[in-house]
Amino acid sequence: MDPYRFVKQEPYKLYIDGVFVESESKETFDVINPVNNQPFAKAYKGRTSDLNRAIAAARRAYDEGPWGKMSAKERSKLLLKAGQLLAARAEEFAVTETLECGKLYMSALYYESQMAVDAFEFFAGKARCLEGKVVPCEAGHLNYVLWQPCGVVGEILPWNGPFMMGCQKVCAILAAGNTVVIKPSSWGSLSMMLLMEIFHEAGFPAGVVNLVTGSGAEIGDALVKSPLVDMVSMTGGTETGKNIIGVSKDTVKDIALELGGKSPNIVFDDVDVDEVVKWARFGFTLNSGQVCVSGTRLILHKSIYEEFLTKLKAECEKFVPGDGFDYMNGVNFSTLISKSHAQSVWNYIESGKKEGARLITGGVPYTDPVLQKGNFVPPTVFADVRTDMTIFQEEIFGPVLCVTPFETEEEALAIANGTEYGLAGGVFSKNIKRALRVAEKIKGGQIYVNTYFSKGMIESPGTGWKQSGIGVAGIQKYMISKTVFVDLIDGSLPPV
Ligand code: NAD
Repeated sequence: MDPYRFVKQEPYKLYIDGVFVESESKETFDVINPVNNQPFAKAYKGRTSDLNRAIAAARRAYDEGPWGKMSAKERSKLLLKAGQLLAARAEEFAVTETLECGKLYMSALYYESQMAVDAFEFFAGKARCLEGKVVPCEAGHLNYVLWQPCGVVGEILPWNGPFMMGCQKVCAILAAGNTVVIKPSSWGSLSMMLLMEIFHEAGFPAGVVNLVTGSGAEIGDALVKSPLVDMVSMTGGTETGKNIIGVSKDTVKDIALELGGKSPNIVFDDVDVDEVVKWARFGFTLNSGQVCVSGTRLILHKSIYEEFLTKLKAECEKFVPGDGFDYMNGVNFSTLISKSHAQSVWNYIESGKKEGARLITGGVPYTDPVLQKGNFVPPTVFADVRTDMTIFQEEIFGPVLCVTPFETEEEALAIANGTEYGLAGGVFSKNIKRALRVAEKIKGGQIYVNTYFSKGMIESPGTGWKQSGIGVAGIQKYMISKTVFVDLIDGSLPPV
């Protein structure tokens, strides 16, 4: 298969007010394949003037256009049609995401693309099930509560799963009845740019969906500052989220933030070690650790500690790193997104060594010259990681696991809850009472018991606790409540 056959020769365009356009400045940026750091496509780079046109279009489409006047059923049907168009082009999207983000192609094709199509189907259904409620109130009155769209939503996306995640967010935003301006990450723009063709072909009215590429510091910041944008949803790092909180204060903007994580994975001594070793490995190496909910802190019972580490080392060393398209040769471990991100992961690895953590496996670059062209970091396991170490406290966002021993349940929980993050967590034990007790006490929005990773990503809320985010995921975060009181009795005005 030649993946480059799907790549456009001309620069990928912005999508504003129902039209594919060059940026006003005509500036472009190179799109780079992280497997070899070679540019393979170009895309137009948006600037503030492009963004302002996109916001104005989204505003018009919401305030005056057909979108606001459509029934939920009509919006739902458009989403369903778009989902069908996307399903027919799943291969092209999976190839694009693999090329740009260094994914494993099989995973991009059979998981992420399917989940992206599923988002269209799920939210098409959801659009028709939105409900309000009637609340008992003073006699002679009716009180009902409506959930209405926020209006114009700015959606700022990260690079680690832009296609699947982008579809999940944008479909929820549209199903709720909003219009949207999408700002993809500069490291993961193409799949969303391509997705605009799907919305266009499906017949979404002009201005309902818009996309402007560009830097976070300019385009992301301007989206948050704009008084014409009613709500901003951002998925990304905690520092970026803090920035947005600060900037959003001037417009008191409604914000939803899905931020970083440093999730604990607690393993008790009654488990089947061979099986749980594989779960632990899966938990921190999926997408080379570039997953927000990765189980990057293994909290391991002392009595199985050394046996587990020996088996984990052996499992990690089985990975075959390489180009995600090279699945026929067993490649099952992918590259990191960029040179700079890989460098940041290497800096953390050096800090782990300096701070005295015990290196079990990985921790040194691959020597294969082909791999050296990309941004590969091998699965790296540090044992005896203390809670005061930088690698324990900070999100690394790469395939680096920190292992810390424990003896008692209380100790395990104290270690698990000992960071500023609260995104997710795992617990493995055959003692189900203990497992559920611990699940209840882990401070995080999504907990896995005897498994790892979500089994209902769009059906079930994934909420960031502590510094991992603000706002419950799902359609409700793109809606705002309105309570209405109705007088049912003539002449009920109270005497003055
Ligand atoms: P990032 O914070 O660098 O960028 C995220 C987005 O924000 C990008 O589009 C970027 O351009 C934009 N941005 C940057 N500065 C901005 C600013 N000042 N104002 C507005 N927007 C700005 O994150 P990333 O490196 O793209 O993604 C990795 C991070 O995302 C990790 O921390 C990961 O945990 C997190 N993440 C969280 C979830 C979740 O559901 N909680 C899911 C995926 C990724």
